[in-house]
Amino acid sequence: MTAPEVKFTQLFINNEYVNSVSGKTFPTINPTNGEKICDVQEGDKADVDKAVVVAREVMKVGSPWRRMDASKRGKLIYKLADLIERDTEYLARLETLDNGKPLSASRVGDVPAIIRVLRYYAGWCDKITGKTIPVDGDVFCYTRREPVGVCGAIIPWNFPLGMLGWKIAPALCCGNAIIVKPAEQTPLTAIYIGSLVKEAGFPPGVVNIIPGYGPTAGAAISEHMDIDKVAFTGSTEVGKLIQQAAGKSNLKRVTLELGGKSPLIVLADSDVDVAVNWAHEALFFNMGQVCTAGSRTFVQEEMYDEFVKKATELAKNRKVGDPFDDSSQSGPQVDKEQFEKILEMIESGKKEGAKLECGGGRKGDKGYFIQPTVFSGVTDEMRIAREEIFGPVQQIIKFKDMDEVVDRANRTLYGLAAAVFTNDVNKAIMVSNRLQAGTVWVNQYHALDVASPFGGYKMSGTGRELGEESIHEYSEIKTVLVKIPEKTC
Ligand code: ADP
Ligand code: MG
Repeated sequence: MTAPEVKFTQLFINNEYVNSVSGKTFPTINPTNGEKICDVQEGDKADVDKAVVVAREVMKVGSPWRRMDASKRGKLIYKLADLIERDTEYLARLETLDNGKPLSASRVGDVPAIIRVLRYYAGWCDKITGKTIPVDGDVFCYTRREPVGVCGAIIPWNFPLGMLGWKIAPALCCGNAIIVKPAEQTPLTAIYIGSLVKEAGFPPGVVNIIPGYGPTAGAAISEHMDIDKVAFTGSTEVGKLIQQAAGKSNLKRVTLELGGKSPLIVLADSDVDVAVNWAHEALFFNMGQVCTAGSRTFVQEEMYDEFVKKATELAKNRKVGDPFDDSSQSGPQVDKEQFEKILEMIESGKKEGAKLECGGGRKGDKGYFIQPTVFSGVTDEMRIAREEIFGPVQQIIKFKDMDEVVDRANRTLYGLAAAVFTNDVNKAIMVSNRLQAGTVWVNQYHALDVASPFGGYKMSGTGRELGEESIHEYSEIKTVLVKIPEKTC
């Protein structure tokens, strides 16, 4: 293993690394061996307050940030992307150390993801326009899109860099200031990005990064009277708390990207090997720690037995091991809490009568590794078919016909993503139209692009990230109505 040196462990406020007001620290743990990597300064309400003061200053009318040409803002964001690209190898190693995901994935997935989203929104800066509207009367009406103000971002641990990018890129693009709280399990890459924000030349106070815990630093953001918007990715349970906190404080704008229990429907006319391979990736990618994980695999009865056999074979052959080893397809789960929760869910599956095809326990005796697990004979009522597991546990469920499966697929509180596998284009479109999910994949899974919107139906969230939609989420529309002497034409 070649762990990188950790260069920064402090809060990043006003373009400087500083200790927390309380002076407290918290450990960040290496999930590969359960040992401490280092202590990180622990931010709390007092630190959020400090960051809000500088961020408000930045957002004052007439400040250099407010007066900056949109094209210059774009250049700064491009520059940040270039610096991240320069440090790809370092950031990839740091992410793998802190999170446990395979280094190969950090290199080709996570680091490029933040670069791509920054570049996409860098290009948007000078293309955000309003409208002129032909209203009644002698009035000239136009709209402007203005920044929302000071934004808060609360980031999860499963894609620390990517989710950071999804929040800071559109926020900066629209000219906001932002206060970021990375997840307590994985604060290191976000903290390092602070140094690149400074190097890129952003004015002090535009980006502030406050590592700390959810109920303290996170809650301080969502409750703050002087933060205008909060964007959150994480559990549905915490999403509710954030929306409540916004409602109880200043009605700040809220975007939430929450949990899922996404159905992946395999119709019997599809190519079995294609479907099995995608269903495997849909679930086991990132150790199952993906909000869109295809964690209810519905397979039509004619194909069911063959599918289960092949899916089990794939899971058995998946290489789980040291994430710094290039041959590892999976590393450990992120922390002890997740590890134990997943093992408990596996036990519930066994108890409730699902058939364990492979896996079913921890792997090794060090770190938080779990064997790729496949259950067949899963029914809709079982906990493993209803609750988010967020781990490498695949549920394969049998169905008879299309109408039935769409109903069953939609019978969930969630609605983040779904997929259908079929070689019949009519069926593909019919099923896609009827699925209640923010994203539907046809004959593939996990495809995302920064240019297309992403978000959830039902309890999987509110609002959309990426694409033009994120510009709307990070800007306010102002309508200006100018009295004119008379209509000239
Ligand atoms: P998980 O349960 O998978 O860790 P969470 O939703 O708890 O996911 O965490 C996602 C992010 O939300 C983390 O940055 C975490 O610190 C933060 N968080 C947790 N609880 C709260 C809270 N009460 N208020 C604000 N943020 C929170
Ligand atoms: Mg939690």
